[in-house]
Amino acid sequence: MSFKLQKVPAETANLFPNGKDFTYYADSLQKISGLQACMARDLESRFLLLVSSENSGAFAEFEGECVSGNGVFAKKAPLTEKNAAALRKAFPWTAPVPVLHKKCSFGCGDRLGLATSAHAELFKKYNAFPVFAQQSIRELNLTKRTYRSVIDDASFQVFQAGYTGGFGADGDHLKSFEHIDMALEVGVTMLTLDLSDELHPAFAEVSGAELEKAYAGCPAGVRSECEKLYLSGPIQLKSSTLNFTKEELMRCVLIYTDAMDFAAKVSERLRRHGAGKVDLEISVDETSAPTLPEHHYFVANELKRRQVVFASLAPRFIGEFQKGIDYIGDLKEFRKQFGRHVEIADFFGTYKVSVHSGSDKFSAFPIIGELTGGHFHLKTAGTSWLEAVEAISYADPKLFREIYTKAFAALPAALKLYHITADFSVLPKEETLTDAQLPELLKCVPGRQLLHITYGAMLGEDPAMHDKIYRALFVHEEEYQKQLDEHFRKHIELLGIPAR
Ligand code: ZN
Repeated sequence: MSFKLQKVPAETANLFPNGKDFTYYADSLQKISGLQACMARDLESRFLLLVSSENSGAFAEFEGECVSGNGVFAKKAPLTEKNAAALRKAFPWTAPVPVLHKKCSFGCGDRLGLATSAHAELFKKYNAFPVFAQQSIRELNLTKRTYRSVIDDASFQVFQAGYTGGFGADGDHLKSFEHIDMALEVGVTMLTLDLSDELHPAFAEVSGAELEKAYAGCPAGVRSECEKLYLSGPIQLKSSTLNFTKEELMRCVLIYTDAMDFAAKVSERLRRHGAGKVDLEISVDETSAPTLPEHHYFVANELKRRQVVFASLAPRFIGEFQKGIDYIGDLKEFRKQFGRHVEIADFFGTYKVSVHSGSDKFSAFPIIGELTGGHFHLKTAGTSWLEAVEAISYADPKLFREIYTKAFAALPAALKLYHITADFSVLPKEETLTDAQLPELLKCVPGRQLLHITYGAMLGEDPAMHDKIYRALFVHEEEYQKQLDEHFRKHIELLGIPAR
């Protein structure tokens, strides 16, 4: 089992009116000069439990119900913003640090702020650097959370697990300075710059005179420099070559130049924020067509020419990387194309390939692990929410039926935000299913995708439903942890991430 609860010793518990209900997470217990701290829970909630010989120093920085007796002070500190800050100060490993530049890193988005402790338990055992706090603006809006609360939740959960190995915080898929500044202000240590608003992908479909005409509209200096750089002969990669035709180069210049200039401005913003404080990931994956190898090379080289320091780049890969389900497409072709992307990243040697919508791509994982030699970033996000829904399907079938029904009502709106191709008409009505059949809905593609993309209706729009879900996962914490442990262990092992 991934965590162990222990009875709080009577001399501390007896100081509190309901202290007999207190248990604490054994792995969380920490002792620093005069202060003992742990994550604990009673019948209602989780909280920090602090014991100190005096009411000063780190102890005094936490807010909460303070009692004294037997020559000690004890405090029941709720999981508030102030206490998260006090926790990070007293135990610095509960604050995020840059990890994307390490060899292997793994993004575990946690839409609920409840999954990180199970993630952290796993990364005590496996040799990769986790990014526990990771949300996109879309997810923040749909869950009504803030970057502040996402990082605070990760800090509390990391403390609960007693994980001290370092973790990142990713401002995910940011597109504007407004959002970048918001994320930097609360201390993200990684920024995923989504260039899709600055790209002009329509030029991928243009050719002939129309293409020539658009290209002629680019500044002469840009054209001549690019022609010199990219048309002077083949570029030799490890096992293949890249050959720019004039036509493909014209497309690259037209599609990417604005985005490259924008990335350079963001890079400058990060330099002013402080060198080495934030790792940058470049994302060109949110487009309809796969990123051609020549385009990947062009982007990486243009970023280099603009002195953009970035730790990873997310191309759009061939096939479909849809949310929460396995890879869709020809795995042989994926191996071939993915291998070329890895060779291009290796050619530059300054960044690694990043795989977005990386959850549940079980058939592609061995290829990703093998071809990168374990040198990659992989992002998962909604799959931890799906595991929560699955835990509820076992532990609280009545609530699961409510979630499932609500998901159908929320589907049309959710489909406007997420690219999903499942046929939802095959899904049965909940009243036709026995309780024992409910978990099956999480094992089929349409069921997974239905529940994957409709989380906003449960967590952001409906406070009563939000509270019911959090209560169920509090009561059934162990079931949820077990679910996450199995699911992520499968990811990690198929990717070939070695044990520590
Ligand atoms: Zn992406």
